[in-house]
Amino acid sequence: MRYVLAIDQGTTSTRAILFDEAGRPGPAALVPLTQIYPAPGQVEHDPDEIWNAVLQVCRKVLSEVGSDAVAAVGITNQRETTVVWDRATGKPLHNAIVWQDRRTAPLCAELEREGWGPHVAETTGLIIDPYFSATKLAWLLTHVPGLRARAAGGEACFGTIDSYLLFRLTNGALHGTDATNAARTMLFDIGKGTWDSALMERLDIPPGMLPKVCDTQGDFGVTAEEHFGLGLPIRGIAGDQQAAAHGQACVRPGMVKATYGTGCFVVANTADQKVASRTRMLSTILSQRDGARTFALEGAIFMAGATIQWLRDNLGLIESAEESESLARAADPRSGVYLVPAFQGLGAPFWDAEAKAAIVGMSRAASRADVVAAGLESVAFQTRDLLSAMRHDMGATGIDAARTLRVDGGMTANGWAMQRLADILGEAVEVAAILETTSLGAAYFAGQAVGFYGDNATLAETWIPAKVYEPAMGAAEREARYAGWLEAVDRVRSRGV
Ligand code: ADP
Repeated sequence: MRYVLAIDQGTTSTRAILFDEAGRPGPAALVPLTQIYPAPGQVEHDPDEIWNAVLQVCRKVLSEVGSDAVAAVGITNQRETTVVWDRATGKPLHNAIVWQDRRTAPLCAELEREGWGPHVAETTGLIIDPYFSATKLAWLLTHVPGLRARAAGGEACFGTIDSYLLFRLTNGALHGTDATNAARTMLFDIGKGTWDSALMERLDIPPGMLPKVCDTQGDFGVTAEEHFGLGLPIRGIAGDQQAAAHGQACVRPGMVKATYGTGCFVVANTADQKVASRTRMLSTILSQRDGARTFALEGAIFMAGATIQWLRDNLGLIESAEESESLARAADPRSGVYLVPAFQGLGAPFWDAEAKAAIVGMSRAASRADVVAAGLESVAFQTRDLLSAMRHDMGATGIDAARTLRVDGGMTANGWAMQRLADILGEAVEVAAILETTSLGAAYFAGQAVGFYGDNATLAETWIPAKVYEPAMGAAEREARYAGWLEAVDRVRSRGV
């Protein structure tokens, strides 16, 4: 039996999973990751801790099958998180600044004032935000003593987590990254496939510290023998959302996946089209092979599972997330209750940062069950909002959007919520059979490079969902409910007062 070793370095944990030649998950190991909060709004990780965790989880799973059973290694990772390290030793020069960290908001505001928005959108596909690596790197160059000089002299490297792991795994043989990760730095021209010199100059980033950008699927060299007994070929690297899309076999133009965790990430395959969104959705790289890029549109819902957590922890309406399902089944389908979870304002396509959350439409008969059902239903409505906007953007570029949605993540365990999602969208919702779609995607990328799993067409044909929810609600009811949602959203929008 031969395997692909998938390394999934996430925000809260580091995991390794072995997938066999049929794509079935085998031995797995996980180590939680320490979250470091130096100040309000700041989040860091220790790159050395991450590296040691990678060694630990890989060695654990390899001990079960033997390193010689591994045909290829694939890496997937939390995106945007920024690391700087010493080229000679591989030692980090500061903690990694995590994607959630907001310390560079003032620099982003400055860039915005200087009018960089259109350039950033056109070249990187992104919007100016502390989320992305560029301003985090600029912050490190300013605040780590001597870093800028050392970087200019070629002694210091920058990279996202994948890049750092690749460097350590190969003992510094390759300072590289893949195109999907490069696309989240806000320094990469996704159309041309090169680092953008204008942004590098503005942020005073020495070009020599940036990694070489490689194909998502290809030859990243081999792991140094000392790590796992022999050199294992690294053949795939992708950011977590792109890996999840590949794990869901969203390989055809117009195919869309949504991952329902705390928030929800939606990624649509836009083939060779770099789509400029009219609703501030992100345009990014889905994968790169033989230098050819496949693009994606990406949007996010801030509050998905988090709404259920709020119902549980803040209102105490449920004891567990699971309980939301039985309650929703007992709710009055005609209650008219809507929950608009604008706890962090409204995201795409409304973009109203000042909006506040509300529960509206309650009569005296409104019950706990009705409110919980409304919370679950809000996830379906927000998905429809996002998908409509995305498909509109795609349609404007001539891409035929698929009329099914592939889903994964913790919330997909909720049958009522998934059925309601299918009902509100008016289309089939396909739940992934393998819950670790992110790791699976990394395994697919690496495995395909060594002859496993077939080409993308084969992947598309052989991908089978665990469950399919077909819409059962009539069109009139669906549209009436959705109109009610839009009305509820309208009531929570800020009026600029
Ligand atoms: P993350 O990766 O963001 O931590 P997970 O994919 O593990 O998220 O999903 C956890 C989220 O899913 C939580 O916010 C939780 O409230 C929600 N969730 C889990 N199970 C259910 C369920 N049966 N019904 C509704 N929500 C659920």
